[in-house]
Amino acid sequence: MLDTGFFRGWLTAAAAAVEREADRLTELDSAIGDADHGSNMQRGFRAVMTVLEKEQPAGPGAVLILAGRQLISTVGGASGPLYGTLLRRTGKALGDATEVTSAQLTEALRTGVAAVAQLGGAKAGDKTMLDALEPAVEALGTSFAAAAEAADQGALATVPLQARKGRASYLGERSIGHQDPGATSSALLIGALAHTAGA
Ligand code: ADP
Ligand code: MG
Ligand code: MG
Repeated sequence: MLDTGFFRGWLTAAAAAVEREADRLTELDSAIGDADHGSNMQRGFRAVMTVLEKEQPAGPGAVLILAGRQLISTVGGASGPLYGTLLRRTGKALGDATEVTSAQLTEALRTGVAAVAQLGGAKAGDKTMLDALEPAVEALGTSFAAAAEAADQGALATVPLQARKGRASYLGERSIGHQDPGATSSALLIGALAHTAGA
């Protein structure tokens, strides 16, 4: 069973991964965006760590809802509302249980990812974070390790794609040949999840 500590652990591992990879995320965003994805994620996850310390949310759902709300209010770029929605909607789907199964987490994440697709109007193949998140949720039915692998592969698979959403889409064909920053950060978040699960 996955308890409140597991979800705090996931977000802590995600924040550490963002710190470690911030320069790379910004570098990817400088090729096809506005060179702020690393700093956006850093600002957001630092704020998440601060609020989790201060407010001590009671259950898995409450942890994710609080973190999501914090991302929405602190990250200016497109990724803030999108990741904020992912966490908030996933948290809402988990409800107020004190522990959840990995099957329940998979279903809740499916709801969260669908909310991201709806908010951003994007689908798989548009060269966005969804290219990592959607295959990850599918693979999570198998295992945490499979989800992390699927997210990594999904992020890599954005390289030959032409962006159809977000800033990168303004570049048209010139977005081809670069890995999407948001798909890359999504792979970090899913990797942190697998790490926390001990996969
Ligand atoms: P901004 O583009 O506002 O500077 P960031 O650089 O923080 O925001 O995030 C960019 C990432 O957000 C992209 O690499 C992409 O993965 C994701 N993204 C942008 N627009 C959308 C969208 N409409 N749907 C899903 N993901 C999107
Ligand atoms: Mg950007
Ligand atoms: Mg920006």
